[in-house]
Formats: sequence, structure tokens, C-alpha cells
Amino acid sequence: MAARVLDGKARSAQVRGEIAKTVAALRDKHGIEVCLAVLIVGEDPASQVYVRNKVAACEQAGIRSLHERFAADTTQQALLARIAELNADASVHGILVQLPLPAHIDRQTVLEAIAVAKDVDGFHAENAGRLSHNDPAAMVACTPRGVMDLLAQAGVTLQGAEAVVIGRSDIVGKPMAMLLTNAGATVTVCHSKTRDLAAHLRRADIVVAAVGKPRMVTGEMLKPGAVVIDVGINRQPDGKLCGDVDYASAAEVASAITPVPGGVGPMTIAMLLANTVDAACRQHGVTL
Ligand code: NDP
Repeated sequence: MAARVLDGKARSAQVRGEIAKTVAALRDKHGIEVCLAVLIVGEDPASQVYVRNKVAACEQAGIRSLHERFAADTTQQALLARIAELNADASVHGILVQLPLPAHIDRQTVLEAIAVAKDVDGFHAENAGRLSHNDPAAMVACTPRGVMDLLAQAGVTLQGAEAVVIGRSDIVGKPMAMLLTNAGATVTVCHSKTRDLAAHLRRADIVVAAVGKPRMVTGEMLKPGAVVIDVGINRQPDGKLCGDVDYASAAEVASAITPVPGGVGPMTIAMLLANTVDAACRQHGVTL
């Protein structure tokens, strides 16, 4: 039986519609103009597209955005100085520095310079630590937060489920594993040194693939009825995008699956907006 398609595009549109209403209510009832600062260093074309999409999504939701572009040779000191100003600016609720950064800038130093309360990407070590403590005050990285929303919408039982996360990056794999653990799943994290990935996948009720290798997970590796979440975004030689999962064969075995594009990707942007609104509410002491 063909798998149910988990439509991230449709769910993202719904979330963004709800956020737009919240943003309007914050403005009209509380006089708060929600604002996100998006900083980009250099000319990386993919990053430029991502930033433009984020800024456009803000505008659609009624969130004010500051789109700040820095030349590729900007010093780390100059970038940190601007982040310090934005940290101190009470009219700015969220700060995002687009990754990757040029090699002469230390990524972790920059990410840790962002005020914890304004860290809408959830990449600050303090937010990662809070997440590991299952602290509701943690700002959760957008992609894993989006995956949790898709799983909740699909009615997937997490408690007691066997989950396999492929990938252990700080921005996707690790927070994903932490969220699933906090939700009561039994989580295995696989990575490039994992000896027998297929053996782990055969036991998994839920698979989250966040690797960056086109179609590496095939249907024959999956347990029948598994829920398959494909985070991977890979550009093929013909210019089209594909995920880390071989969609055609996996959809024959899985009970539910996210497409690429149109699955996790749109959820990431929706959760960035959600984190920004959450940050604004916390900074102003507003409970919705
Ligand atoms: P990273 O490159 O930081 O991490 C990739 C992970 O995959 C690493 O942990 C690596 O292991 C692991 N890995 C590599 N090869 C294998 C293998 N053969 N078997 C098992 N594991 C392997 O990538 P990100 O986490 O930043 O991103 C992962 C993917 O998700 C990319 O395609 C990216 O484009 C996409 N992405 C999509 C987003 C969205 O909105 N949909 C948002 C963010 C990312 P090791 O640690 O041992 O090196």
C-alpha cells in the first residue's frame, strides 16, 4: 500500500496563517511590532535564496524584518559588534545569522554572541542545553521543531516508538534526537561511522534522515509501516531537488512519508516565524 504523504507545504501555510493572526493581535492589542533581524555575510547563492525566502515569509506574516548584508571580507569583530547592537535593541525580538559563514569567521563564537532570548535558530549552546533538560523555555532549532509538528499532525505515536535519526549535526540531528527522546521515543542516532545502518533502520518505527546524500535510504532498508521523514535537500545534476530517501521505493513500504521538496523544508521557515513570535511574547511577558 502506498504511504500517506505528509504535506509540509500545506501544513506550513496553515501555521503561517495562524502566526499572521497572532502577529496582528500582538500589534493591535499589545502594541508590539514583532521584528526579526536576518544577517548574511558574503555572496553564497544558496544562502541568498534562503535569506530572501525568510524575509519574504516574515513580510507575509506581518513580521518586520531587518535584512542586513555584510561583505564576504567583513571581520568577525564587525559582525560581533552589530550583533551586540541588535541584542541591546528592544525593538528586535529575533536575530538570525545565515550559515555557512566565511572561513575567517568562527561560527560558534558568532552563534554564542546572539542573546539567548533572541536566538530564534536555537543554535546557542544554552538553548541546546535547555532542550537536553526538556526545559520548555528552550528555543528549539527550526527544522527539528517542524518535524515534530508534522509528526504530531499525522497523529504518530512517539511514546515507546523506536526512532532512528540519521545525522548528528548540531543543527538538525542532535536536536531532533533530543526532541524525540523527550517525547518518549527510544532513539538511535546513526552517522557516518555507524557500522550497519540498515540493521538499525529495520527496527525503526520512525526514521528521520538528515544526511545530505541523495536517496541513500531505500525502501528495502525500512520496516514495513515506518513513518519516514526526509530532511535532506540535495541538488541533482538536472537541477532538481531530491531528499536523502529514495521516495519511490520508500513510499511502497512506509505508512507515511514526507516529499522533497514540499515536506520538511517549508516547515523550517514556518517554525522560524513561530520562534520569532515566541521570542517576542517572552520578551514582553505576553501569554497568548
Ligand atoms: P551535516 O553535513 O552537518 O551532517 C550530516 C550528518 O550525516 C553527519 O552527522 C554525518 O555523520 C552523517 N552522515 C554522512 N554520511 C553518512 C552515511 N553514509 N551514513 C550515515 N550518516 C552519514 O548536515 P546537516 O545536518 O546540516 O543537514 C543534513 C541535510 O539536511 C542536508 O541535506 C541539508 O541540506 C538538509 N537540511 C534541510 C533543512 C530543511 O529545512 N529541510 C534544514 C537544514 C538542513 P558524521 O557526523 O559522522 O560526519
